[in-house]
Amino acid sequence: MTIADKKVVTIEFTVKNADTNEVIESSVGSEPLIYLHGFNNLVPGLEKALTGKSVGDKYDVNVTPEEGYGARDEALVQEVPKAAFEGIDKVDVGMEFTADGPNGPVVVEVTKVEGDMVTIDSNHPLAGIPLAFSGEIQEIRDAKEDELEHGHIHGPSCNH
Ligand code: ZN
Repeated sequence: MTIADKKVVTIEFTVKNADTNEVIESSVGSEPLIYLHGFNNLVPGLEKALTGKSVGDKYDVNVTPEEGYGARDEALVQEVPKAAFEGIDKVDVGMEFTADGPNGPVVVEVTKVEGDMVTIDSNHPLAGIPLAFSGEIQEIRDAKEDELEHGHIHGPSCNH
């Protein structure tokens, strides 16, 4: 069996910043990633690279921001008055919260606090960063009907 649309795939993965070689996230030493292929559950560049691979195959792929989490969009960086953060005692750099975006909820990060103004950034934290993914294919199976309906896998980590 090879990786194709509608397959449930288990992979070990490490993702690094391709410029600095810094490890951003890794499944090594913890749970592997299980995902439904062909449903945009992974970034496009990684899905493309995994297509056609078999269990035991290793992968090592560089993904541009365009095929990763997108280019950074400076329009998503905004300054808002501190007063907008009602009910929050202290607004600090690095705080994250969820806001309503045009395509559903987005995670917004506080990147600067100066006087009464707060700078927030709703770019994906990995936007604009070239990424290097590597790892090994561990398992491939056909997706079940209900998984295809939902567009994601149903396993122990599923909470519905
Ligand atoms: Zn579901």
